[in-house]
Amino acid sequence: MSYAGPVQDLVDELGRLPGIGPKSAQRIAFHLLKVPPDDALRLARAITVMKERIRFCRRCFNVSEAEECGLCTDARRDATVVCVVEEPKDIVAVERTGEFRGRYHVLQGAINPLEGIGPEHLRIRELFARVREESIAEVILCTNPNLEGEATAMYLSSQLKPAGVRVTRIASGLPVGGDLEFADELTLGRALEGRREVD
Ligand SMILES: [Zn+2]
Repeated sequence: MSYAGPVQDLVDELGRLPGIGPKSAQRIAFHLLKVPPDDALRLARAITVMKERIRFCRRCFNVSEAEECGLCTDARRDATVVCVVEEPKDIVAVERTGEFRGRYHVLQGAINPLEGIGPEHLRIRELFARVREESIAEVILCTNPNLEGEATAMYLSSQLKPAGVRVTRIASGLPVGGDLEFADELTLGRALEGRREVD
């Protein structure tokens, strides 16, 4: 069965969000139906404002309010070292360690053949362009310690090494199969510090 048009529309939209199944979508929709209009509209406004103001940095593809993000424009950061991550949230995880003062490049995903995601679907071409055009001496592969993250790191190192840039991978010791964002600062900090040249 389905609900009155507008309710069903919201249930359908919520159900499209990652990690939200039909039951949760229904629960959230009915919750929003019950709360005062201001409370519900605040959520709608937050989404609208985010979509209007936030874009991706044209250099590193981090989220940004300007053409280039604050990390790319910060002259105190070391432009010769670039930490490659899968998602903007991974930058937050690395920044929390306080161990990294270089720049970033966000791939916006990882290679995943089962889901049809190949290198051409990620910001890999843009990374190669940066390695060619900027004075980058080291690329740290900081993709997640799971199957997709490892496959992505392998692919990137095979493509980057012939370009003559130093390619390193964060040390193992991170929980395998996990996401960077779930690693505590100390563990991730050690993994960064203990990074090794990729053979
Ligand atoms: Zn940036």
